[in-house]
This record gives sequence, C-alpha cells and structure tokens, in this order.
Amino acid sequence: MRLILHLAILSFGSVISAGAQLPASWTEPFPPHKVAGNLYYVGSRDLASYLVATPAGHILLNSSLEESVPLIRDSIEKLGFKFADVKIVLISHAHSDHCAGSAEIIRQTGAKYFVMEEDATAVEQGGTLKSRIRGDYRQFPPAKVDRRLKDGEKVSLGGSMLVAHLTPGHTRGCTTWTMQVDGLNAVIIGSPNVNPGYILVNNRDYPGIAGDYERCFRTLRALPVDLFLGAHGSYYDMEKKHTRLQITGGGNPFVDPEGYRRYVADREQAFRTELARQQAR
Ligand SMILES: [Zn+2]
Repeated sequence: MRLILHLAILSFGSVISAGAQLPASWTEPFPPHKVAGNLYYVGSRDLASYLVATPAGHILLNSSLEESVPLIRDSIEKLGFKFADVKIVLISHAHSDHCAGSAEIIRQTGAKYFVMEEDATAVEQGGTLKSRIRGDYRQFPPAKVDRRLKDGEKVSLGGSMLVAHLTPGHTRGCTTWTMQVDGLNAVIIGSPNVNPGYILVNNRDYPGIAGDYERCFRTLRALPVDLFLGAHGSYYDMEKKHTRLQITGGGNPFVDPEGYRRYVADREQAFRTELARQQAR
C-alpha cells in the first residue's frame, strides 16, 4: 500500500514529500525545440520550461529543479541563444519542480522575477508556508520577487507579450500563461491537478480551495486555444507530438485544441470525483 501511494504521488508529478526520489523524467535531458514562432521548449523530458526569445532578451517560464539549471542553460544555448540574455523569469506555480531553479538562474543572469501575487510569499519563503496536504512540500531556495502579478496582468519584452491568468487551487497563485505567437493562441496550463493528499473539504490552511479549483476550470474552459502546452510535458503528450515534428508537411503537432479540451474536462472530472469522495466521508 505504501509503495502504491508512493507511486501515485510520483506519477502526479507536482508535489513530492521531502526525501522522496524524483522521477528520472524530471532530470533527463530532452531535445530543445521550437513550439511556434519565437516560443521554444527548453525543459527536460517531463519538466517543461519555455523560452520566449526576443531581440530585447528572453523570457524564461519555469526554472524547474535546482539541478535543472545546467540543463536549461544547455538547451537555450543549443538553440543558438545566450543564457545571459534571460531578462525575466516566470513560473507556473510555487512548487519545487517548477521554481526551485529560479534563485540560481537569477544569480547567473541578473533576470527579474515576476510571480503571481498569491504565490509570491511562498516563493520568497522557499516553500516553507504551511501546506494543505498530508506531508510536506519539498522546499526550495528562496528568491526575491521583483514584481507581484495580478490576474490578467501582461508581461512584455521585445515585442512579445504573455498574459498571466490566475488558475488557483493547485496552489493559491497557480498561473496559466497565454501568448499569441504566429497568429496562434498558446496556452501553458499551470496545473489543474488535485495531488494525492490534497484536502478539499474543511481545509484550515486553504479554506477556499474547492472554490478556487472551480475558478481554475472556469478560466481554462473559457480560454481560446490553438497551441496546447503545460507545466509538465505529460499534460499535452509532448514526447509523442515532438516525434511528429520530424514529419514534414504534417502541420504543427502542438496545435491541439481538442486535446486541450479533453485534458481540461478529464482533470475537472477528477477534481469533482475527489471532491465528492471527500464530502461523503
Ligand atoms: Zn505542482
């Protein structure tokens, strides 16, 4: 039973108790590639990091783990860009698998750190805030937040613009990023997942958690989408789509509005099932 629970936690990806082993796919290198226009994938096999490359420097979304920093740096350089040109760091949410590398990246590049207001304190405290799950979040090096973002706020650099959408529940400040690139609507989902151990009913540390998930799904359902992306490659079948990149004339495999809607509906169903299970207890 312990083993099964442990595996369930690992497969969910986004939260890991202290001392647990990390999935190999989180740290395994993966070929960096263009998603569309000036939007690139620079993450590992499963931990998604994105680079928005502009003439005025770059925006990096998701610093991933502390040990991810050299991998992200290599990926950026393989694409022909300079790591030192990263000017802004953004995150999907304040969990170690998406933000633990931020402090080191900022130290190396001097980039500014923009984080959704509701996750900014967790980021500045290194994940030591009281958790609402049984077990602990993995802590990460604290990093100073230069700008606290509000829902709908725009982040612009060198002619590119990302919009921060508050999609809370998974964390209070969980952020889904959107961007128009090559005439396509890119949506990078922050996380709609209810991790094992999350308390949705009578949660004293996060009283509004269930209502926040409702808001998250409302927002995700309403976003216009062409390019379906997310904080983990597994959200959008990144590996399978990446192999289709090699096929010439096959169209952009990351354009997948149907896959997006299916994924969001599936995650919403999972949330409702878990909420009903906890309400019945
Ligand atoms: Zn997470």
